[in-house]
Amino acid sequence: MAIILDGNTLAKSIKKDIKSQVGNMMAPPGLAVIIVGDDPASHVYVKNKKKDCLACGITSHEFDLPEDTGQEKLLALIGKLNNDPNIHGILVQSPLPEGYNIQEVFQRISPKKDVDAFHINSAGGILRGEYSFLPCTPAGVIALLDHYNIDPMGKHCVVVGHSNIVGKPMAMMLLNRNATVTICHIHTADLAAHTRQADILVCAVGKLDLITADMVKPGAVVIDVGINRLENGKIRGDVDFEAVSEIASHITPVPGGVGPMTRAMLMLNTLNSALTCPQ
Ligand code: NAP
Repeated sequence: MAIILDGNTLAKSIKKDIKSQVGNMMAPPGLAVIIVGDDPASHVYVKNKKKDCLACGITSHEFDLPEDTGQEKLLALIGKLNNDPNIHGILVQSPLPEGYNIQEVFQRISPKKDVDAFHINSAGGILRGEYSFLPCTPAGVIALLDHYNIDPMGKHCVVVGHSNIVGKPMAMMLLNRNATVTICHIHTADLAAHTRQADILVCAVGKLDLITADMVKPGAVVIDVGINRLENGKIRGDVDFEAVSEIASHITPVPGGVGPMTRAMLMLNTLNSALTCPQ
């Protein structure tokens, strides 16, 4: 039976540590969270971020904007927050409603306050291994691996999913740790032939049970980033957890694996922004 990589417990201890560091600061870090429209899932994510801020002693500044706010007003708000000395991190909850250009929105956030690390400067910095912020989900995966002393160096890591916010930066961060990295995606012919080669398998797709036990090498470390909401409201990952945990050496549960680590990394990025650039 695989060892469970417990993101809940690790995230709790990271947040406790952040709170004690914030306690020693002259003023608490400030995180601005902008949400546009009524997407229920996005509102849940924003509520959770607010809770995390509270747990860490970080001041949360919430901007709940109506769907018809418009691109220009949204950009103007970000411009104002870029110059606000009480704000150390700016986050725009995605997806934005139809009609918004999210890439332009991400580009407007000052790279100094880009705690989600979606700005092109942050993305480019990861390629070079020189960055101020790492994107929260892949950073959370690396923090989990580190905590459990799983060193990617020299390992064959297979990342399934090549999105700009998870799969690609995940692959680069593993490469920066001297892993040999394969990236798979929707056009990959014979996905299983690749996943079976993985010493560390990271799946970030959003397809329930995409990874079955026959696709996993015995003894592999399996990281499930995927979130799939079932009709009964519960969430599950991309990996057939019950069957794969019989053969993997380590596995993340969903929920309780990468999700809480993602949230903890956002808090850590906000703290680091305030420490390195106190305004
Ligand atoms: P995304 O932008 O939809 O990317 C999904 C990726 O999977 C794309 O690269 C897509 O390729 C690829 N893909 C789709 N079907 C595939 C298949 N059958 N085989 C192999 N690859 C396939 O999603 P994302 O933002 O990266 O997120 C991925 C998953 O992680 C989602 O479930 C999301 O909810 C979850 N997530 C979790 C956290 C967390 O904290 N746990 C954070 C962020 C995201 P194409 O683009 O070529 O179609």
